[in-house]
Amino acid sequence: MSRPIFVTTALPYANGHFHIGHIMEYIQADIWVRYQRMMGHAVNFCGADDTHGAPIMIAADKAGLSPQQFVAQVAAGRKPYLDGFHISFDNWHSTDSLENHELVRQIYRALRDHPGGSLIEKRSIEQFFDPAKSMFLPDRFILGECPRCHAKDQYGDNCESCGAVYAPTELIDPYSALSGATPELRSSEHYFFRLSDPRCVAFLREWALGTDDNGKPRLQIEVANKIREWFEDRPTPDGGISRGLGDWDISRDAPYFGIEIPDAPAKYFYVWLDAPIGYLASLKNLLDKRGQDFEAYMANPLLEQYHFIGKDIVTFHTLFWPATLHFSGRKTPTNIFVHGFLTVKNGEKMSKSRATGLDPLKYLRLGMNPEWLRYYLATKLSARNEDIDFNATDFMARVNSDLIGKFINIASRSAGFLTQRFGGQLGVVSADGAALLQQLRDERASIEHLYESREFARAMREIMQLADCVNVFFDTNKPWELAKKEGQEQRLQDVCTVCIKAFRVLTCYLKPVLPVLAQKVEAFLHIAPLSCTNLGQTLPPGHTIGTYQHLMQRVDAKQLEALFVADPAFTSQTP
Ligand SMILES: [Zn+2]
Repeated sequence: MSRPIFVTTALPYANGHFHIGHIMEYIQADIWVRYQRMMGHAVNFCGADDTHGAPIMIAADKAGLSPQQFVAQVAAGRKPYLDGFHISFDNWHSTDSLENHELVRQIYRALRDHPGGSLIEKRSIEQFFDPAKSMFLPDRFILGECPRCHAKDQYGDNCESCGAVYAPTELIDPYSALSGATPELRSSEHYFFRLSDPRCVAFLREWALGTDDNGKPRLQIEVANKIREWFEDRPTPDGGISRGLGDWDISRDAPYFGIEIPDAPAKYFYVWLDAPIGYLASLKNLLDKRGQDFEAYMANPLLEQYHFIGKDIVTFHTLFWPATLHFSGRKTPTNIFVHGFLTVKNGEKMSKSRATGLDPLKYLRLGMNPEWLRYYLATKLSARNEDIDFNATDFMARVNSDLIGKFINIASRSAGFLTQRFGGQLGVVSADGAALLQQLRDERASIEHLYESREFARAMREIMQLADCVNVFFDTNKPWELAKKEGQEQRLQDVCTVCIKAFRVLTCYLKPVLPVLAQKVEAFLHIAPLSCTNLGQTLPPGHTIGTYQHLMQRVDAKQLEALFVADPAFTSQTP
């Protein structure tokens, strides 16, 4: 049965180009999405730029641009990355779109006018105001002396010197990072989403700590453990007690680049209220283009909805986002898939010259194959939210020894005999070869399960073990000797046929990770696009394959060296 599946990645903040962390998340989600498509499921894979908030407003101002112009510039730079790493989004949109403005207002009104009692509350709060810039200052734009250790020039929310967490009003001699002026305390009316309401607490406990449709804990164990803490009372830095879930301040005062709150002049939605709604806005934009009805699509009880995110934005996605959806009468996510960070230490402490890390665009411009990175990350990724480290030596070994040495070599070693001796025709497979092919097919359910559960590293290990078996079969039968012996033509054709058929199965298993390589293999083998639905079909004797052409280059150590050399041409990353 074809499952309707809606998948997103976290929306990148549109104040700069993608870094390698974004690309890792997109590759993880893309592998999963491509696997689902190969299974015949109907996936809509959506992304968008996260465009609102004070940091973008301030950066645009510095660049002498309007916020709209600023984010348009950033958005224009997205395509080379997404195309370059074969990320197969069905749609890329923006949180500053018409769809998002409308959906945000609809959702807010539903929360405000909730039939069980409003979930929005107005409250007056005191905040720092920059008199020179005539605006309320976000915490990160207030600097001053740490009230605890007296380090100078610390941020308004925490001290980088001693780690203390405090309110901006506690800073000694505070000043505005924008103008240098001394900020004034002013009172302002803010809008709060009442997460502390017993209805919200009950719903969120059930959603975040409960089970999914299969009776399994919905969220990853590390994530659920973190969430459990938020429901508990805990001490605050000032010696008080914070009682469980607090209400969420969802408004900001003008000037602010964002979406205006209905019936509240000069008040805007805090960027984190409108950003995840951007997932729905991107989907709606896609469905509108196709002439499909968005609300009808979302109303399908079978629809599955998944968000791939990093571990730094868990609160927003496992508390605020499901509550926003549920209490506005919308479908809640089926699951949130949380991953760790990608570190680029290269097995050593990062030296100054390597501090730029791994620039994804530089990687592509050096002519490095994007599928090397896709494969390498696949060998590292699991369903847990652990950090993974990019290590250049390991990268070279995985690509050159495993991907090329074990997998590609199967085709390059066996195809030549078939082309030169048999006009590219496949022969009849004898019993030992059939047993090997059966062994490969028997692993199918296991590999599918590993892809479905995002255990890509284990899937890659299983596939490479199968490649090992095929190479053992090849080496044991020594086709290069069979080719010299009288009367061994049929066995030679048989052995090479088995290897080519095995190569076809392994290519299918690797296709979610290596989509472009798989296309080349399909062209070379003269077969229809491989999918989980046609894998069971076999190539009949007499099927003719094409001439083998180089499928993949090996990684050159010089490329990796160049990648990590600081290079001014590639470090101008802000627009
Ligand atoms: Zn301090």
